[in-house]
Formats: sequence, C-alpha cells, structure tokens
Amino acid sequence: MSIPIPACRICRHTELLPVLSLGLMPPVNGFPADERETALEAKHPLAICQCPRCTHVQLTHMLDPREIFEHYLYFSSMSETVVRWGATLAERYRGEIELGSNDLVAELASNDGCVLKPFAAFSRIQGVEPARNIAKVANEGGVPTTAEFFNSTLAASLREEFGPARLILARNVVAHVPEVVDFVAGAGAWLADDGIFHVEVPYLKPMIEGLEFDTIYHEHLSYFSVTALDHLMRAAGLVLWDVEEIPIHGGSLIARAKRNGPARPSVAKWLAAETASGLNTMPRLAKFAADTAKLKQDLPKFLKDLKARGASMAAYGAAAKGVVLSNYCGLGSDIFEFVADRSPHKQGRRMPGTHVPIVPPEALLARRPDYTVVLAWNFFDEIAGQLAAYTTAGGKFITPVPFARIR
Ligand SMILES: [Zn+2]
Repeated sequence: MSIPIPACRICRHTELLPVLSLGLMPPVNGFPADERETALEAKHPLAICQCPRCTHVQLTHMLDPREIFEHYLYFSSMSETVVRWGATLAERYRGEIELGSNDLVAELASNDGCVLKPFAAFSRIQGVEPARNIAKVANEGGVPTTAEFFNSTLAASLREEFGPARLILARNVVAHVPEVVDFVAGAGAWLADDGIFHVEVPYLKPMIEGLEFDTIYHEHLSYFSVTALDHLMRAAGLVLWDVEEIPIHGGSLIARAKRNGPARPSVAKWLAAETASGLNTMPRLAKFAADTAKLKQDLPKFLKDLKARGASMAAYGAAAKGVVLSNYCGLGSDIFEFVADRSPHKQGRRMPGTHVPIVPPEALLARRPDYTVVLAWNFFDEIAGQLAAYTTAGGKFITPVPFARIR
C-alpha cells in the first residue's frame, strides 16, 4: 500500500511542489523467488517534491514501513567498504572524544552490527535494528541489538536501561524515517550532555549535479541538503554542530548534532554556499528532472546499439539503485541475460519489476558477457577490483550514470 504524504516531514507545510516522477516502481527489496511471487508484485508511484518553506526535498508517496523493514535482505557486512568504514569511525572517535570503557556508543539501524563492532574494543556498544532477522544475526555475532523501530518513546527506555550515549551513529537511516523529527528528538533524548549525534545521509547536491536519480526509491523518503538538515535539527531541539562531505553512496554528508551550541563556523559556510549555488531552488530541481528524462532515452539506446552489433550483456548489482535504474529505463531480459550479485540472499531470485534472474558473480567468469553494466556504480572501484579476472578475460564494464561510459 502506498500513501501520499500529507505534509512536509520537517516543517509540516502542506503545499508541496512536484519535482520529478519516476513512474510506477516495485518495492526495491521485493526480489520475487518464483512465478507466483512475480504475479503478486505491486508497483507504486515513485516521485519527489519540494517544500517551499524549509526547502526539504522528499518523496510524494510512502510505503507502509512495516512491509519493508521487518524482513530485509541487505546485510552490511556483505560490503567490505562498510566494514572498513566502521573501523575508521571507531579510530576517529576513540581519539576525538576519548571514548573509554564506561562510555556508551549506540547505533540506530545498526544492521548486522559490523560498524558498531570495532567500538567494542574500548567502549560499551548497543545497536537498534528493526529488521528482526538482521538483529538476530547481530546478537548472535556479539553485538547487543534491540529489535525495535527507534523513536522518542523507545529512546527514553534505552536511556533508562543503558544510560546516556556519548556517541549515537545513524548511518543511512535518517533519510528513511517517516517521523523524522521524532526520530532525531529521540537521539537527542538518549545523548549525554556532551554527546554527539553522528548522521550520515546521501547529499542532495551530488544527486542533483551527478544526475543520481537512482538514489530515489521508496524507502528513501528524504533527500537532504545542509539547509534542510539545519531545519530538521532545530525542529528536533538539537543544534547542527558540524558538517562534512564524504565519498560514500556517490556523495554523502556527515552531519553532527549536539544538544547545545555553539555550532562550528563550518556550518554557516555550508549554508551560505548552498544558498549561493542555487541548489535548493526550483529552477535547479526542474533541470535535474529534465536531464533525468533525457538519460531515460539515451541509456537504453546506447545499450541496444551494442546489442544490435552482436554483443552479449549482463548487469552487476541487485541493490536498490539498480532496481530503480532498470525499471525507470526499461532494462529487462531483452538487454540483460542476468544480474550478478554477491548476496546469497538475492541469488536464485529475480530483479523486482524486470524479473531478470539474479546469479552469483562467478557467472560473469563462467558465461563471460561482452559487457557488464555496473548498476551498483557507487561501488565501482570495489567491484572492478573483485572482478579483475573478468576484465583480464576481455569483458568490459559500463557505468550508466550520469551517462553511459565503457570503462
Ligand atoms: Zn518543510
């Protein structure tokens, strides 16, 4: 079931302006296993709008989150990049805020616990993860994890049970939360007075400038600029204290908030730079929509021309963005023989919407298609490294965004 959002998630303004529609889209984590499941697959409107009052860019419709998150197929530890990032964050905060054995480090949407785990070497850790199957894996792997949806009510009981947190991580979850102001207020309620709320979200700017329309999917409700994050933190009673950009997911922000100010000077610089760039203006967003529509024409033509010359073709990466890109651009079995993916939970199933079979990466070596379109282009370097034997054997990669390129 999809529900039109009645008001801006941050400021509750009700007159939201349409930006871009990607048409009807199946849930990106559906992965039907057989014909019965493909027949039952539902599609829902996927479109973004902007709030003219606080500038927040957000989905026009949402799916029932309980349908999406309680049994989720993505395990963080499948990605070496995510595992390494956990170790990087642990080293960083150990030095920056001198975490000790009495200090609590918490993570919201902690997945299988691979980011939190390195913190256990010197601090107490606590995960919160609503997908029960994944929380179970985390607990079995030694990362204590509460299997609940996080909100301000749960925050109060977590603070009661575990004490205040000196660091709360929220990596790629804030953009997925419907009641986002309550969620952030909950983090504020759990934080110690000197605590840091560390938020990672995909950044609107590279999405707009890099034509990364495939970061739009049903679970991803909010598309944050620094300006909108500043509004969000204020609405939740926190201070946006520090901002930096990192090259994860095609360009993300680390936005750090505290219970009290003052903010670091960098925050004012970020806000001024966004205003000067016109990022949050409707003319810029309208150009993004027009360029996306052009890619929808150009990419399938590019791939079909290669096929017409006799090339064989597959795809790599059954992640959300691959599902969105395949469906929006109409890249089905007439173009891809198969989609390769490392996750054993997806192998043997089919891509949502296009129903192209998903197979292990070894198939690229066994069947050696002439071209492999890397749908998970945000992990291109990692994937190209893992599949060096494919290119050595003569295979070629294609990255599809912002325009098709043979690599
Ligand atoms: Zn708003």
